[in-house]
Amino acid sequence: MPGEPQADCLFCKIVAGDVPATIVRETDTTVAFRDINPQAPTHVLVIPRAHYPDAAALAAASPEVLADVVREAREVAVQDKVSDTGYRIVFNTGGGAGQTVFHAHAHVLGGRGLEWPPG
Ligand code: AMP
Ligand code: ZN
Repeated sequence: MPGEPQADCLFCKIVAGDVPATIVRETDTTVAFRDINPQAPTHVLVIPRAHYPDAAALAAASPEVLADVVREAREVAVQDKVSDTGYRIVFNTGGGAGQTVFHAHAHVLGGRGLEWPPG
């Protein structure tokens, strides 16, 4: 069933509490936790509790939850005091774009200057 937990999914395990993570925010529909390999002073992942392989699949199945993810990304930036200087929300989509975990997630990056275009 779309949205159901996947036994082999790392982020489903974090949602279930079976893999530890430094959780910074939680809502009924989302979990936000610090990236284990941070690329900026603030590097937090915001994920839906439901399993979808990427942001586009989440948008198609559950657009209101994708909106929750983006709203939570902003709340993370406010909480980490990087919203005034600017932050980036990234959805790597597909292996060629660097996606390695196929459970939809927003990277929230901030706290340093961010180059454009990204690498
Ligand atoms: P992506 O490459 O866009 O799929 O992003 C996956 C992110 O998950 C990477 O930035 C990893 O550093 C991060 N990551 C992998 N394992 C963990 C973990 N156990 N806890 C927190 N972040 C993780
Ligand atoms: Zn999952």
